[in-house]
Amino acid sequence: MEKNSLRRLAGELKHFLQSRNEDEFIHTAAPTQAAAAVSRAPAGRVPPMQEDSTLRIDFPRAAAPQETPMPAPKPQEPLMTTAQKQAALQELAETIKQCSRCPLGATRINAVPGEGNVDTELMFIGEGPGYDEDRQGRPFVGRAGQLLDKMIIAMGLTREQVFIANIAKCHPMVDPQHPEKHGNDRAPNAEEIACCRKFLEKQIAIICPKYIVALGGVSAKALISDAKSLGALRGKFYNLHLDSVALPRPVEIIATFHPAALLRNPGWKKDAWKDLRMVMAKLGLKGPNN
Ligand code: SF4
Repeated sequence: MEKNSLRRLAGELKHFLQSRNEDEFIHTAAPTQAAAAVSRAPAGRVPPMQEDSTLRIDFPRAAAPQETPMPAPKPQEPLMTTAQKQAALQELAETIKQCSRCPLGATRINAVPGEGNVDTELMFIGEGPGYDEDRQGRPFVGRAGQLLDKMIIAMGLTREQVFIANIAKCHPMVDPQHPEKHGNDRAPNAEEIACCRKFLEKQIAIICPKYIVALGGVSAKALISDAKSLGALRGKFYNLHLDSVALPRPVEIIATFHPAALLRNPGWKKDAWKDLRMVMAKLGLKGPNN
């Protein structure tokens, strides 16, 4: 054979072998089902995708929306009989006497839970016991208490017909190192009020009066839950809402001056009397001679 013929034959053989390898590669590569479907489709029409489990991506399912948990309903105190009220208040008073939830418990002589008629329609609530109250374990028994007694009598009631209590049940002192000092009283601070508030709320819920007179700015702001000054809060009734318990029936609250403030500022008595007259009108009282 000629040299040129041999070279041409070798080239054709090489080309043949290369094309065989490419055919084998094409036919041994298994088509995916999706590719096979596309290849079977008539021209110009894309067939619907067949599900291929190997291609499926399982996205994590979004958690079902949770309903916002409702706050637990406040326990509602039932309207109690006189005997039930007396028993419940007595039990509460014993708890208060053992209490040391705030620092006032360490320096008091006596806790002062409060006292009065458990079936009354009217409660007076001050801010905290003072020197005399700490020694006697009774609310409003000092000079301010004597003025409060006169205010109650001017309304046509007696002390025994109403219930008197404070927001803090133990004596807040300016200088707790010297409890024997006179003029050592102060208002309870926010932390002390928050600690003691549950006791007062329970008392209010048990007695469930129709009206409350908040004596002084500290008591008014805490019970009306408004930071306005006493001057801005006075002169109207508010619906009372308690934090820890639902009242068995609506209770209204009005604010006036603390008797101790009236002793220091006798000119304010006229305005305090206006506030008490509003309560008297609600209760149908006409004064000492009604
Ligand atoms: S003021 Fe109230 S909370 Fe504080 S120790 Fe006395 S009873 Fe307890």
